[in-house]
Amino acid sequence: MRLFCLLFVLCVGFNFASADPTHPNKNKIKVVIDAGHGGSDSGAINNTVLEKQIVADVSSHLKELCKDKNIEIILLRTEDKFMSLQERISKIEALSPDLVISLHANYSKDRERNGVEVFVAENEFTIKSSYFGTKILESFKRKEFKTSSLKSANFFLMRNLNCPAVTVELGFLSNPEDMKYLNSEFGQKFLAKQIASSLD
Ligand SMILES: [Zn+2]
Repeated sequence: MRLFCLLFVLCVGFNFASADPTHPNKNKIKVVIDAGHGGSDSGAINNTVLEKQIVADVSSHLKELCKDKNIEIILLRTEDKFMSLQERISKIEALSPDLVISLHANYSKDRERNGVEVFVAENEFTIKSSYFGTKILESFKRKEFKTSSLKSANFFLMRNLNCPAVTVELGFLSNPEDMKYLNSEFGQKFLAKQIASSLD
């Protein structure tokens, strides 16, 4: 099913995100960045490094990087505050975005595990979600960054949204190489840049 969807996307040359620079507001896409966790929910932790802070920082860089593009970036979480999944879904639905990008960072007992992972849900938006998910992975691959293939997942938020959505796991807090990116301004900007370039 997943393979079929990807092939379909590639074959029809899906043109969802085409932006015309001569008409700034024409085809402008609205993208909600959903930084995971927040407040009492820190997400994954490695010593003093918290997933909730990493994803918030990458979200801010992403907004900054897209300010001159024909893309409207809306940050769902702008404070270090807990937000339930249902609250996130309600806020996203009110915004009617073209795409939601949920940002997370991983942790594994296997310290060798590393790289970026992108997930999409299997629902009526799978084709559109897969289109963006594949572009994000390709953007990292072009920089010879370790990535997995696009994966499907039954995450509550993606499954219940009424729009295309991807979940990006930016790397593993448990892996020393990934930590160089996750826990540095340079690395966080690099991660944000790859996602931003995939939205062009
Ligand atoms: Zn997370």
